[in-house]
Amino acid sequence: MRHLLSIDDLDRTGLEQLLDLSERFIEVTHRDIPKVPALRGKTVVSLFYEDSTRTRLSFETAAKRLSADTMTFTVGSSSVKKGESLRDTVQTIEAMGIDAVVVRHGSAGAPKRISEWIDAAIVNAGDGCHEHPTQALLDVLTLRRRRPSGLDGCRIAIVGDVRHSRVARSDVLAFSALGAEVTLVAPPTLLPESLEGWPVSVCYDLDEVLPNIDVLYLLRIQLERQHEALFPSLREYTSRYGLTAARAARLPADALVMHPGPMNRGVEISAEVADGPVSLIAEQVANGVAVRMAVLYTLLGSGGPVA
Ligand code: ASP
Repeated sequence: MRHLLSIDDLDRTGLEQLLDLSERFIEVTHRDIPKVPALRGKTVVSLFYEDSTRTRLSFETAAKRLSADTMTFTVGSSSVKKGESLRDTVQTIEAMGIDAVVVRHGSAGAPKRISEWIDAAIVNAGDGCHEHPTQALLDVLTLRRRRPSGLDGCRIAIVGDVRHSRVARSDVLAFSALGAEVTLVAPPTLLPESLEGWPVSVCYDLDEVLPNIDVLYLLRIQLERQHEALFPSLREYTSRYGLTAARAARLPADALVMHPGPMNRGVEISAEVADGPVSLIAEQVANGVAVRMAVLYTLLGSGGPVA
């Protein structure tokens, strides 16, 4: 693997190998000194053209725990403000001698373009509405840790703003590659115009699917990407698609709830459910570091022992 641009870059075996490696890095993160020398001498740059809390901090923590040097590029205080193009920006960064670039960009396909311009390994940390592969990896890792028998036959409902969600696109690919049955639940206006080729079924009614699922994966309503009114009001959305405590009580007893963050508490999920025992949200964040260590190690490591 040279780059990680899409979950499609991995087949089931590749996914499982990355998850197994992530487990080894979870063990590292639990040590007194959670650091290994695997990427000593390598430099990882985070290039974020869009806001981020979890993903950027998680990649930077991962790189540091592997002993790599890190550089952070913040668009707001860079020459992008003076009109420098994406290509000139990445070529300038590459000239400093770097090994990997973790890219988040508002345009679908930007990480792929960058991979054609420079030699460093490129990791897609979210490109427009297209993909967010490391989010999907941490999601499947989190689920696999809760379901030692694996995801085969696991019934997962992904609920909400699928249309604008790069998380949904990557998750559908990863969940289904590992054998899960995925149902998208949303009003028609929040689904992509075409679902051709998506290995999913669709339901417009959350209350109908609630009793028959193992995992409820909630998406954030991405108001920043919605340029027209796609539902009457947030209150109306919550009344039909929000995971309230009353709805959560109708889930099967061992069902699990996930959300990629950031959450709109009180819109797609109530605070009570988000902080309650069925929620895997904090585990997802914690597992993100190990998954990103596994990705960076796979792209940049010598293939030697994790240590
Ligand atoms: N943090 C995720 C992303 O960057 C999900 C979200 O923003 O809703 O795509």
